[in-house]
Amino acid sequence: MAEIDDLRGAMSRLEARNRRLEGLYEAARELGAAADTETVLHSLLARTLRALDSRCGAILLRDPEDDKLWVKASLGGAAPIGEAAAVAMGEGIAGWIGRERQALRLEDTNADPRFAMRDQEGWITGPLLGAPLLSRDRLAGVIEIWGRHGEDGYAAEDLDILLALGGVLSLAIDNTHLFEESLASSYLDSMTGLYNHATFQNLLERELDRAERYARPLSLLLVDIDEFKPYNDRYGHPAGSKAIRTIAQIICAQSRASDIVSRYGGDQFAVLLPETDPKSALIFAEKIRVSVDAHYFPGSAGDLAEHLTISLGVAAYPEDADSHVSLLDMAEGALFASKFAGKNRVCSAQDI
Ligand code: GH3
Ligand code: MG
Repeated sequence: MAEIDDLRGAMSRLEARNRRLEGLYEAARELGAAADTETVLHSLLARTLRALDSRCGAILLRDPEDDKLWVKASLGGAAPIGEAAAVAMGEGIAGWIGRERQALRLEDTNADPRFAMRDQEGWITGPLLGAPLLSRDRLAGVIEIWGRHGEDGYAAEDLDILLALGGVLSLAIDNTHLFEESLASSYLDSMTGLYNHATFQNLLERELDRAERYARPLSLLLVDIDEFKPYNDRYGHPAGSKAIRTIAQIICAQSRASDIVSRYGGDQFAVLLPETDPKSALIFAEKIRVSVDAHYFPGSAGDLAEHLTISLGVAAYPEDADSHVSLLDMAEGALFASKFAGKNRVCSAQDI
């Protein structure tokens, strides 16, 4: 009878664990499609800890740039998040798991020579489980958990569970990365990294609302490269695209952090200047014009460097327009006036 009771007890513990695991799968799927990486990681870490009756855990993700493992989620323990929270590959227990891509089950972390955080305040030692997070054969990161409730350490079966969870986690990490990338690609221009046309339209509306509400100035600048078609014809499309990127960089280098620089269309840019009156906007526009004029763009191999110029149109709220549509119209009119007057110049809506 005692054996049957034991068995029943073990069964009900297993069922409870299965329910928690199912919850984790669900969470991974939902969160993978809905939130930013760090929220997903925190939630998944919390569920992993619950499934394995543990108090503490950390998820470290590998940054391919520096090949370090950065703590991105931490619960219950003292693993810091942020600047100071990187571990070199091979360093400490997490670094070992990352380098060897092997899971680890320790009965006493303190006794393990790989343990590097021994002297750091708040680190609870004792039994620990760790597993690499592998995503399509690449190391995405490492998960470690410790602070097991009760007297027992982790069983071999617990490590199997952590490995299975690691698989779910890797999938969720992959999804959120993809999600963030696709989010970025929907509001940025992939060639220049600037805001794209649709985002610019939204931001123009938002900034104009704000300018109206708080009675603040707002200026808009439209930029178009002069004679760009002949440059493309002479040097080819890739060289043309490189010139567009260079001009984007020149505009950004002259801008303030609060300025909104966008790719408006093929060879056109739009710059929104919050808190800027028409006089200051004209000075800014002239600075960009001069910078592009002074830049030499590479010609084809062995050729002389090329010269490119830009034309600009400036319009301002409240002087020239009272809606986002009319502000754009006025800036386009001013740009057209620059082209008409001979290009490589700045015109203001006040001039037309
Ligand atoms: P204008 O002085 O009147 O502005 O003449 P333009 O030759 O610059 O002619 P326009 O602005 O009407 O045409 C823009 C040209 O920019 C057309 C196309 O060849 C080129 N262009 C647009 N987008 C891209 C791009 O992404 N890459 C490259 N390489 N060229 C582009
Ligand atoms: Mg042009």
